[in-house]
Amino acid sequence: MPQGVLQCFKLKALPGDINHLAQVEYNRFLEREIKDHARIQQVVDFVAAKTCRSRILMDHFGEVPKADWSCAGTCPSCRPAPKVAQPVVTRKDATPLTDELWKPVLDAVKSGAVGRDDPRHIARFAFGMRSPRISSEKLARHPAFGCLAKSGCGFREILKKCEELCGRLDKDV
Ligand SMILES: [Zn+2]
Repeated sequence: MPQGVLQCFKLKALPGDINHLAQVEYNRFLEREIKDHARIQQVVDFVAAKTCRSRILMDHFGEVPKADWSCAGTCPSCRPAPKVAQPVVTRKDATPLTDELWKPVLDAVKSGAVGRDDPRHIARFAFGMRSPRISSEKLARHPAFGCLAKSGCGFREILKKCEELCGRLDKDV
């Protein structure tokens, strides 16, 4: 497999319409990405939960507890507070996006290196997420690729910003 290629597909028959095939694959990729984000968010919510984690797991797997069921302190949320202070896992709020953090992304878009026809494409670029398009346009080599990866900014916030940026096409940006 050539370097940088994440997935390969075997072509069983020539597609009738290559644009249709590209759209189908794009939608499949997008759907998987949205599901992956949701799954990661579920794990974060689970770890940060203050309610009984055993009960959360039971609900998740569709198990109905008996009327007299009790976690009895077997999960970290229900365990009595330890005598020694333990680090508390809390859900951290995302770092606000500053102009300074946003500038490399904006510059990459303004220069034309990153197309502004797809907000998710720009957001992926900013977070250093690979996609077929990122690979084919060799954007992983761009100095701003992944510039927000360790910023602590939330993907959804950045995606919204990218949507605004795409909406401002041919205007003053
Ligand atoms: Zn519990």
